[in-house]
Amino acid sequence: MSSDLPQYEQAAALVAAYASQLGRMRPSTVRVELASASGRVLARHLSADQDQPPFARSTRDGFACRAGEISTHAPLPIAGATHAGEAPPGPLPPNAVWEIMTGAPVPAGADAVVMIEHVEKFGGQVRLLPPRTLSPGDNVVAQGAQARKGDELLPAGSVLGPAQIALAATCGCADVDVFVRPCVAILTTGDELVPVEYVPAPGQIRNSNAPMLAALVAAAGGEPWVVPTAADNASALDAALAQAAEADLLVISGGVSAGKFDLVEPALARAGARFHFTGVRIQPGKPLVFGELPRHAADSRRPGDPNGEASLQPFFGLPGNPVSSAVTFLLFAAPMLAALAGSREPGPHFALAQLAKDTDRHGKPGLTRFLPAWCNFNPPPGQPPQVATVSWQGSGDLAAFARSNCFVVVPQEASRIEAGAIVRILMI
Ligand code: AMP
Ligand code: MG
Repeated sequence: MSSDLPQYEQAAALVAAYASQLGRMRPSTVRVELASASGRVLARHLSADQDQPPFARSTRDGFACRAGEISTHAPLPIAGATHAGEAPPGPLPPNAVWEIMTGAPVPAGADAVVMIEHVEKFGGQVRLLPPRTLSPGDNVVAQGAQARKGDELLPAGSVLGPAQIALAATCGCADVDVFVRPCVAILTTGDELVPVEYVPAPGQIRNSNAPMLAALVAAAGGEPWVVPTAADNASALDAALAQAAEADLLVISGGVSAGKFDLVEPALARAGARFHFTGVRIQPGKPLVFGELPRHAADSRRPGDPNGEASLQPFFGLPGNPVSSAVTFLLFAAPMLAALAGSREPGPHFALAQLAKDTDRHGKPGLTRFLPAWCNFNPPPGQPPQVATVSWQGSGDLAAFARSNCFVVVPQEASRIEAGAIVRILMI
């Protein structure tokens, strides 16, 4: 193993620095309907168009009142009733209560809501059951308690999930400005590959990386563009690289190892590539290549590029074994893609879990290992998530990969991790 290869952390830091540089270039924006905005990246900050909540709101079914008056336990007359959707009522007369439903505006003059379960009601009057008392503010969310009109609620670069979409809806955004998804060219290479719908002849295999990488690209906020597979020869690779030049990011699979037909690196070099690293001390994925290609003048179409930075196309050459491709994509290409997408949350996403059984590194020391594993994220109460590696036949084992939902990270120096240890997992 060449000792000059970067360690995982060094390679990750290099990619992160490059990505944050790219992240300063604002992608172009597009307006989409809120209903189809899930997973998109907000291009403009979201601000509150009114106070939230817009009126003092009851959180319970019960009676709006003054906490001091109701806490005397004297019977108080019911002066009126309001349910959700009605305009703010009132004012509440002195020494009286107002019947109110969850979500309804609290009448002016009231400072609390007593729950219906906590009173006795007789002949148009209610009485708080002793010894219970009420404090001002109980069961009421004051107007503007969550946000004030004009407050910034989400910064640009936020990824829109269910909560953010609900917030945008509350602010009256029927549509939102989001960044255009970066186009990611997916170039698979290999003489042995046939399209999914073919029955492979002896020695051939179906191209599983193209759809897998397309799924990974989409999940990371990119627009996958699967270009035709290139055969293992110089002219096919040169033509494919030229064809993919328009993409914002280029992801190549296969052909980056040290074999006789691993011709991707030379092809990238012919196209003028600058390599940032050509290998990382990880397993699987050691042959990973990261660099950038110059674009020809006619290809520099990215808007907002005063420094000519967009005339460079970042690329990753991923090893072809499916699990290697997936791991290296998640660790390195996904964060780059998130930055290109304008996201403030680039990843990769790690978590901690407890190892359910002893785990051997099963591989060379000196490399950070990523072992396919299944993590139970719904453990018994009080226990951390439980993770166990799946048995696998190496980085071509798609069946094992498909039984996993994460990778256990085995640090470079560790040879065995005991059951019960808390380990880092890489989320898929
Ligand atoms: P390579 O990185 O080109 O040396 O390929 C390593 C292994 O991954 C070989 O067994 C290839 O057949 C396999 N492989 C390469 N590309 C793909 C692909 N697109 N889909 C599935 N397997 C692949
Ligand atoms: Mg190959």
